[in-house]
Amino acid sequence: MNEIKPPLAQIELVVGDITQQADADIIVNAANAQLESGGGVAGAIHRAAGPDLAEACRPLAPIRPGKAVISPAFRLPNSYVIHCLGPVYGRDEPSDTLLANCYRNALLLADKQQVKSIAFPAISTGIFGFPKEKAAEIALRTIKSSIPSLQTIRTIRMVLFDQADLTIFEGKLAQIIE
Ligand code: ADP
Repeated sequence: MNEIKPPLAQIELVVGDITQQADADIIVNAANAQLESGGGVAGAIHRAAGPDLAEACRPLAPIRPGKAVISPAFRLPNSYVIHCLGPVYGRDEPSDTLLANCYRNALLLADKQQVKSIAFPAISTGIFGFPKEKAAEIALRTIKSSIPSLQTIRTIRMVLFDQADLTIFEGKLAQIIE
């Protein structure tokens, strides 16, 4: 008997701001353990979502490196925010595994909501100090290996903050896809 399989999810790489991804059902926050506002991605997401986000996050905190939890998106144009705690490079070990767990756990949690699209920032590559080349390789390999398990997600977007980061991710994607 022939089995009809839906198309697999696609990976997109763009330069942009994670709070401006109106066509993504879910955006991912590079969160801190307390799921509070702060610098970088978490600050931008909390400012754009409004104070209800901090309120909704309080009972979900603290989280451990590699874990992902979900909340509503409030004033953001998305349906949900998934908050991931990436490893602090040089402190949370094994850092590679913990970073991979973030991407895998976020994708599986998103897929459970039966949504079609998710946008990630480059988790741990800012304040948490993860080298970007290595982080790009882990992110893209983990996304690629998770794709066959996804039921509804069809678009996985990496939102890079500048052209230099996009170039790093494009280089890694070319190696991984070939
Ligand atoms: P972490 O604490 O996990 O390192 P950061 O928020 O400090 O997280 O940074 C993660 C990455 O996101 C960095 O590469 C940073 O340049 C980038 N970044 C910062 N603000 C934004 C934003 N508004 N949208 C997308 N990426 C962002």
